[in-house]
Amino acid sequence: MKIGIDLDGTIADNLELLVETLNCHCGKTLKGDEIYQYNLCKVYDISEDEFIALMDKKEEEIIQKSPVIPFARENIHRLVKDGWQVHIITARNPRYSAVTEKWLREHDIPYSGLHLLNSHHKVDICRELQVEFMIEDNVHNAYWLADGGIRVILYEAPHNRLWPWQGVRCNSWNDIYSSIQKTFNR
Ligand SMILES: [Mg+2]
Repeated sequence: MKIGIDLDGTIADNLELLVETLNCHCGKTLKGDEIYQYNLCKVYDISEDEFIALMDKKEEEIIQKSPVIPFARENIHRLVKDGWQVHIITARNPRYSAVTEKWLREHDIPYSGLHLLNSHHKVDICRELQVEFMIEDNVHNAYWLADGGIRVILYEAPHNRLWPWQGVRCNSWNDIYSSIQKTFNR
């Protein structure tokens, strides 16, 4: 049985560092909790090109410095012990694969597959791998996945809190683990 797990905002807590970087760039003082939509260009009123140029400079550092989301490590280990094959499926650019592997190793996150797509389109890879479900914090990805027939657990974040979601929504990794156990009776 395979499970897909998003990385940024689901295993790696990059939100505060992203907000700090954008605050510094834009001269604002927003907090992570105030980010009510995923599109930071809209939140900070900057162009996509400006955002991409900023991320070209800062993303690697953000990746290196992001802490692990509380209890993600423990619960991913529990899932592996329960027999799940973990596939990390992320929109990160493959140029960050070495730094991503290093971060996963240093933070002791177990996985069978690491897929850096450079795209938010995760339906095809989820189908190809035949994952039972995907854990994801980007509500737009969650909509696309659900439309594509992939079961999703939405990990709650400030940017998805106000968006409708008919499926399972969890606000902690302990909840995610319980939900999986309940669903699959393991
Ligand atoms: Mg994410």
